[in-house]
Amino acid sequence: MSVTSRAKLAICLGQPIGTDVKYRLARLGAVVAVALLGGLVQAPAQTPAAPAADAALIEDIVIGSRVLADFGVLDGFGHVSARDPKNPNHFLMSRSLAPALVTADDIMEFDLDGNAVDARGRTLFLERFIHSEIYKARPDVMSVVHTHSPGVIPFGVSQVPLRAMFHNAAFLAAGAPVWDIRKDFGETDMLVRDPARGKSLAERLGDKSVVLMRGHGDVTVGPSVKMAVFRAYYTDVNARLQSQAIALGGVINYLTPGEGAKADTINFVVLDRIWNLWKMRIAPSLAK
Ligand SMILES: [Zn+2]
Repeated sequence: MSVTSRAKLAICLGQPIGTDVKYRLARLGAVVAVALLGGLVQAPAQTPAAPAADAALIEDIVIGSRVLADFGVLDGFGHVSARDPKNPNHFLMSRSLAPALVTADDIMEFDLDGNAVDARGRTLFLERFIHSEIYKARPDVMSVVHTHSPGVIPFGVSQVPLRAMFHNAAFLAAGAPVWDIRKDFGETDMLVRDPARGKSLAERLGDKSVVLMRGHGDVTVGPSVKMAVFRAYYTDVNARLQSQAIALGGVINYLTPGEGAKADTINFVVLDRIWNLWKMRIAPSLAK
């Protein structure tokens, strides 16, 4: 093994580097410096490549899409996006693709009018205006998830409001408004296919974490991809539990807004624990 390889291995393993290795590395550095001065070795280019979108953020979008598909919250439809923290007027989301199939290479960049920065012939989601208009209206939102989750649909079409059943869905205690596309746009194909529909939806969301869409699905938002995905999952779980509680009959003892606010604080603390579990759950499908 060469001196540099031994040194690298030692650093990786957290081991101290031996004195002889240090001496030989220093000598090697001196030789390279002399070679550079003499023009024998070409120095690396000074201009770095254009800043790419954060790889960890893209991974979160991929993981979130696949996790929600794995749980049946998303099926062939729906999407996960993230605002670009380096350019808050842009956001990242996949090209038009089933969430279970999304990879890092499928993630594209959009402006807040829903235009792709560099489409390169790729097909775009019709409903990207859900995302663009919410990012426009809510500077605090860093991620948006749109689902057609089956558990939630009954609460968008009935008179029963979705309410917080338990601590993981505590964010629902602040309220979950329903947006009815027919109210502003008459009889449509139900899709948020233009900025006007997206703006109307964002207005109905207001300052909440979730908005239900009559005859369609729901949207959850959060300060991170992890939290928006967490909320999408627990909105569906809560809806199923609430339907069961209603079927039992009698008065239901929901979380109060005060309990919801306190419990949601804890959800932020434990978020990484469940995220890591979910990541492990779908990691084999990411292996290439
Ligand atoms: Zn949809």
